[in-house]
Amino acid sequence: MSDLPGTPVTGSIPAHPSESRVVLEARGVGVTRDGRPILHDVNLEVRTGEVLALVGPNGAGKSTLLGALSGELDYDHGTVLLDGKRLGDYRTIELARRRAVLNQASEVSFPFLVREIVAMGRNPWVRTPQFDDDEKAIAEAVRTADVGHLVERRFTALSGGERARVSLARVLAQRTEIVFLDEPTAALDLRHQEDVMRASLALARAGRAVVVVLHDLSLAAAYADRIGMLTGGTLAAIGTPNEVLTAERVGRAYGLGVRVYHPTPGSRPVILPLRD
Ligand code: ADP
Ligand code: MG
Repeated sequence: MSDLPGTPVTGSIPAHPSESRVVLEARGVGVTRDGRPILHDVNLEVRTGEVLALVGPNGAGKSTLLGALSGELDYDHGTVLLDGKRLGDYRTIELARRRAVLNQASEVSFPFLVREIVAMGRNPWVRTPQFDDDEKAIAEAVRTADVGHLVERRFTALSGGERARVSLARVLAQRTEIVFLDEPTAALDLRHQEDVMRASLALARAGRAVVVVLHDLSLAAAYADRIGMLTGGTLAAIGTPNEVLTAERVGRAYGLGVRVYHPTPGSRPVILPLRD
């Protein structure tokens, strides 16, 4: 047996930066589609310096909430404030300089090269001083998302996991204060899941805000500062991983018995389904 390359993911999570402020605030946000409420009365603050994970069963409203918070989706009730100003009062270009969004489905159908896709993340910065950092931003994003070997490939010819990492690189290249990631780890192998979450944490600790939808509760628990749990369009709980991920709450939300295991007393929880 030999050691595998790569940095091990052990070690404690670095502390919150002391400079942390509420950058985004949802007040009583509700979304109705086809006459049916799919998100009800969500109140939520997003702070710089934190990773906020959104979890919950399929159809719970996670993507809808992410869309409402990012300004990509219209909501019917309430308000979302970015630095105290309503999202709807920002111009599209201003929003693109404040937040980047990795959507659940990769929307690209034209056979762009991977390097062209990543470079799209720089579009909001054309004709600004930040455009000087272009090459550096792209190189860093490519390295973080581990897609250097794919840059001359066509996006449409990549596997699902490779596409997800290229889309992540585009979002990272955008270098925004707020980063929204909808299931960025869904198609990824174990190592790349950890890489993406480590990169998210590093962004947060560098003073950004990361809002990430995850299905893997143990992964969310390991990396998130706070977890918001959605069920049936409602934000059922929000708090630290240990506060939110109790066996009772997870069992009720998913309709499945689970055991919440702490590898060491007080450590972040690991959630295991109860099996016969
Ligand atoms: P999640 O991301 O948690 O799986 P979504 O936010 O995508 O859930 O969707 C929440 C619910 O709203 C689901 O029942 C979904 O079918 C419904 N929904 C989402 N978008 C629309 C839409 N445009 N029209 C009608 N129903 C929708
Ligand atoms: Mg979704």
